[in-house]
Amino acid sequence: MSSSASSAASALPGAPFVAYGAGQLQVEQVTLSELAQQHGTPLFVYSQASILAALAAYQRGLAGRNALICYAMKANSSLAILRLLADAGCGFDIVSVGELERALAAGATPSKIIFSGIGKTRAEMRRALEVGIGCFNVESMAELDVLNEVAQASGRVAPISIRVNPNVDAKTHPYISTGLRGNKFGIGHEQALQAYRHAASLPGLRVQGIDCHIGSQITDSAPYLEAMDRILDLVTQIEAAGIRIHHIDFGGGLGIDYNGDTPPRADDLWHELLARVDARGFADRQIVIEPGRSLVGNAGVCVTEVLYLKPGEQKNFCIVDAAMNDLPRPALYEAFHRIVPLVEATGAATVYDVVGPVCESGDWLGRDRALNVQAGDRLAVLSAGAYCMSMASNYNTRPRAAEVLVDGAQSRVIRQRETVQDLWRTETP
Ligand SMILES: *Cc1c(COP(=O)(O)O)cnc(C)c1O
Repeated sequence: MSSSASSAASALPGAPFVAYGAGQLQVEQVTLSELAQQHGTPLFVYSQASILAALAAYQRGLAGRNALICYAMKANSSLAILRLLADAGCGFDIVSVGELERALAAGATPSKIIFSGIGKTRAEMRRALEVGIGCFNVESMAELDVLNEVAQASGRVAPISIRVNPNVDAKTHPYISTGLRGNKFGIGHEQALQAYRHAASLPGLRVQGIDCHIGSQITDSAPYLEAMDRILDLVTQIEAAGIRIHHIDFGGGLGIDYNGDTPPRADDLWHELLARVDARGFADRQIVIEPGRSLVGNAGVCVTEVLYLKPGEQKNFCIVDAAMNDLPRPALYEAFHRIVPLVEATGAATVYDVVGPVCESGDWLGRDRALNVQAGDRLAVLSAGAYCMSMASNYNTRPRAAEVLVDGAQSRVIRQRETVQDLWRTETP
């Protein structure tokens, strides 16, 4: 990439395409202050080069394989991001018919879409069958039966994988850990063989593969390796029962650097995982993966303006115009986002809690941050590309922010700021 901002020397930690140039924070070659002036705040800004570089790491790791990268679009489902990834060859991992229609609107190839989630409705199944999606990741025995019924009623055969819960500890936040026995996801690995036998007996289903997804923001390769061993054991057992497993879907979950986190690189992780696949004799199987956060998380920033400084006896507050409705991760998981000024600051810093205007004490974006700021200054909340805009709400009747996609020295608005009138468009007084 040619971006000056991408050079390793100046890029900010956890934001590979974000750097100060002449004291001004830039995404690739675009200055954030100028975007904020033009489009207002709060404003999400994404680096296209960053997304493509993250994708390239997976593509390197899976090079020479029959592999399909299905972007888990719940991480950031804005149409322009989906189109970028579809054009780069990605399929999509979806969890609702809304995501299905969004992916199609962005130009996705239906056969590259896989449908995950524990609560698919009959209507969602019908629509997914009608457009010809690649695979359903089935998460319970009851869902196998319902999908079989729906497929038969519509004269189709549903391609399926069973999502297996391998009972491994992904060592991440409990709300984003999904592969433990106590989680609501998947079928326990002890019941998997029985579930496959049942699936193979149903005329409306065609067994295609096996699936697992053990959690999110995973920063260690050990749980992945453990899960892969479990899954490969199962493939051996299931195939011994005469049921062919054409693809191994290994989910997503790879972490990113929010606060000095050091997840394995996607290419290194996949070299290690594929060595296991090959050693067990499954080198010819298609590999499907469902990365979300690791493709988009570090590619986005949220620009916000300081409204007020409010010194206090116990805490100083830096009140900004972005809030938990824009950036829900701190409120939801006590998550950490780095926060930096748009204009490089020197001189004495004060320690603040950076908080939004929403009427909840849970509405904070960062705690105990040393900042040298005045009212009217702008800040960037880093690593805001994943699970921010896609989780944004209108709480406190706050319109959702605008989004801009940067490509080198170019930028374009990919989502206009909502108006307040948009917010009651579907209501009746
Ligand atoms: C959320 C999710 C993913 C993506 O997780 P990331 O941590 O964003 O990579 C993949 N597969 C399924 C089934 C999911 O629910």
